[in-house]
Parts: sequence; C-alpha cells; structure tokens
Amino acid sequence: MLQLKCPAQNYAWGRKPAGANGRKGSEVAALVEGSGGEVESSKPYAELWMGTHPSGPAVVDGTEGQTLASWIAANPCALGSIAPLFGNDMPFLFKVLSVETALSIQSHPDKALAQRLHAKSPDVYKDANHKPEMAIAITDFEALCGFVPHHELTEALKEVPELREVVGDVAASAVETTGSKAALKAAFGILMTADPVKVGTAVTALESRLKAIQKGGARPLTDKEELVLRLNAQYPQDVGVLSAFFLNLVKLHAGQAIYLAANVPHAYISGELVECMATSDNVIRAGLTPKLRDTAVLCESLTYERGPPTILNGNAVPGRPWTTVYSPPFDEFEVEHVSIPEKARFQGIQTFLPANPGPQVFVVRAGTGQAYLRNPPSDNLSSILHKDIKLHTGSVVFVPAKTPVKLEATDDGLDVWIAAVNPQAFQDARLMAGKAVEAAESAVGSWLLMLVLGVVLALLWAKLTNNLEPLQSHFSKLLSHASTVKQPT
Ligand SMILES: [Zn+2]
Repeated sequence: MLQLKCPAQNYAWGRKPAGANGRKGSEVAALVEGSGGEVESSKPYAELWMGTHPSGPAVVDGTEGQTLASWIAANPCALGSIAPLFGNDMPFLFKVLSVETALSIQSHPDKALAQRLHAKSPDVYKDANHKPEMAIAITDFEALCGFVPHHELTEALKEVPELREVVGDVAASAVETTGSKAALKAAFGILMTADPVKVGTAVTALESRLKAIQKGGARPLTDKEELVLRLNAQYPQDVGVLSAFFLNLVKLHAGQAIYLAANVPHAYISGELVECMATSDNVIRAGLTPKLRDTAVLCESLTYERGPPTILNGNAVPGRPWTTVYSPPFDEFEVEHVSIPEKARFQGIQTFLPANPGPQVFVVRAGTGQAYLRNPPSDNLSSILHKDIKLHTGSVVFVPAKTPVKLEATDDGLDVWIAAVNPQAFQDARLMAGKAVEAAESAVGSWLLMLVLGVVLALLWAKLTNNLEPLQSHFSKLLSHASTVKQPT
C-alpha cells in the first residue's frame, strides 16, 4: 500500500472550513486538515482529488513529490490486468465534494466528442477521455439531473409564463403537441441561447411573482420554485435559473447515489458527496457559472432522454460485514463503503478487502484504525509497499492490483470509501478475449471451407473437360512431394 497526499480544489462553489448558513463545515477541508494539510478559513474547499489526473495529481507520501502517475509508470504491474482495457493509467478519478452553491449546468462528452473537443481546444478540454460519473450523497444532497418527463415540461410551459415568454409560443406548442425529442431540443436550445437581457427580464419577473406568492401565503411554493429563488440569489438573472424547469430535481439522503452517462445535463446544487468518474476533467458548461460556456456544443450533444434518473441505494456485499457497493453501468469504476460502527468490538472490528484484479484507492472519512497487507504480492512491488498504515480522518491509500488488505477499526469505528475498477470490465475483457478466439476459429473455419470448395470445383471442372486423370496425377505428385519434404533427413 502507499499513503497518498491529495490536492484540494478551492472552486468558488465550495464550502468554507467552518461552514455557513447553519450548515456544517466543508468535508473536504476536514479531510485536508485530518491528513495534516493546512486549511485557510477564508477559502472554499470544493473538491479533494485522489487520482492521477494532471490537473490535480496525488503525490506519494514519503517521496520528494513523486506523483502517483509517475510511480505507476515506474511500477506498471500495480495496475494488474487493466492495461489492455484502459491504457497505462488509473482508469478512475476518485473525489470528495463539498457543495455550498450550485455547480454549473453541465454535461460530459462521450469519447468521440471528447477527442474532437480536446483536439480543437486543449486549454478548455484538458484530456481526450469521456467522463461518466457517479455521485454518492454523504449528507442530504440536491441535484438537477436529466430532462423532466414530458408531462412535467408541458405543465411548466403552461404554469410559468416567464419561461414560455423566453421559449416562445411556437417552440412551446411544438413540445406540447408532438412531445418529440426534436421539439424538446429546439425549445431547450432557444432558451439556452436566448438574449441575456430577455432572460434577465423574465427571471426578474419570475422572482417578483414567486416572492409575492410566498408573502401572500395563498399556497406554498413548490420545491422547483423554491430552488429557482435560491439559484437566482446565487447566480442573478442567469439562464440556468429558468433551465431548472427543464431538469429533474433530485433529492438524495446519505447513502443514495445517482450516476451520469455521457451527454446528460446536470448541476449539483448542495450537499457533501463522494464522487467517482473516469479519469477526465471534461466539462461542457452552459449556465450557473462564471466560467466559459460552450452552449452550442452542449445543446447539440445532449441525448434528450427524459425521465428521472435511477437512484442506487447500494448493495450489501456477501461475506463482507459493514460493506455496501455502488456499481454503475460503467467499466472504469465502482465504489464501496465500509462503515465499522463505534464500539463494534463484540461484533468484530475487522473486515477484508479481497485482492482485486485492478488497483484501488480508499479514503478514511471518520474514525481511526489500521490497514494491513494480508499477503504481500509476490512480485517486485512487495519490497516497496507499506505493510501497515495507521488510519485516521483524511488518510488516502493506494492499493496495487492483486493485493489483499485487512482493515481494522479502533473503538471509534472506521468509515472508509473505496474506489475500484468495476468487475464488469474484467468480464467484458474475458468476453473480448473469448470473441477474439471465436473470430480466429471462424477465420480458420472459412479458410478450410474455401479450400474444400476449391478442390471440389477443380474436380468438377476436370470431370467436365475430361482432364480428371492428369489432375489426379498432379495431386498425387503434390502429395508425394509434401511427404518427402516432411521426412527428416
Ligand atoms: Zn458532472
């Protein structure tokens, strides 16, 4: 195992270390502080990056600043058998996020689009990889995610005159009457590219109307209306405020997760979360952000699928107490949560991470304990790995492939989050290998078939043209020559 030192990102939407607005302080700041890092009270602590991405590389503790990426390059066997699937790098980037104000309305490109965007604007799109991601709430967490079902959008276009004003009657009616993806795409495109002055006027009118309803007390505001007021307070008159009516509002409790495939619009709104993604930082933004917007690319690339996202509640792992796994339909990663409660001594305080065919990274969120190598790997890594590491809040540990680990808690308990390659990737790899053998077999099969067919045709031709005898003598000469060549001299 290796202990890692991981960088925090101080993005403006992050939480301050001491918290604000009645909320507790930033989880990211607590992890940085726990690991012995310095925390500045005036700064927001938005993200902790635990991986190899060049925009925030983890460093191996006890070295002169050697990054995990360069350590892996020097010790590629640490990746196990994943290189043919993902190349010579960690396939996933593991993060913790502390969200105080909303993140941008964004999507992540698929591989083909990522390659095009990176080639065209490498300063904005820093890598050529796709970025499927999964967000697991560790406190109450809110997000906008994917397009609302058809009936919900038609209702919003009817009930929210300010939204209809910007989208326009023609596009709104097309949504209402056809319900097609093309109509949804057209209406969303008109909204997102509308004149900012027109948007600002509509948002101000909407705010006044909602505040009047709030004040009058005739009815309570809906969750979406309350969100719209909050978003407008954070990003005044931004088009992202109106776009909230197009997107599903998702509220998760601690322990629930959503995952996002390529080209699905979303915006995290508030809460603390563990996040895992393919190793990439490609974000296409279109609202609720002071950063660069790439609205045309976003609107063109979205899938325009409708309906609420799937919510994962995690599955217990048979034979491994205290362990829950979150497995999204992506090859690059899955995440496990090991939560040994306080004073669990009478129930057992140990659990095991079995040897994984790929690398793993884990972070300790709370509690204290120790991680032990159970059987140090037999290869040349064993001499350079730590055999045991003391664990406390903020410990981040890299576990090379094929290395079983024992986790042991003290009476404080131990709360650990673990990222690993999704086992489905190894099944896919076996499938691919199986298909390659099948393809090779069928290629050999077709050659044999063609040979037999050729001989039959030659015989037929010879019979028809009375050349059978000369052909037979040719064959027997050929065979006798072959047998003499085979004889050892
Ligand atoms: Zn995202």
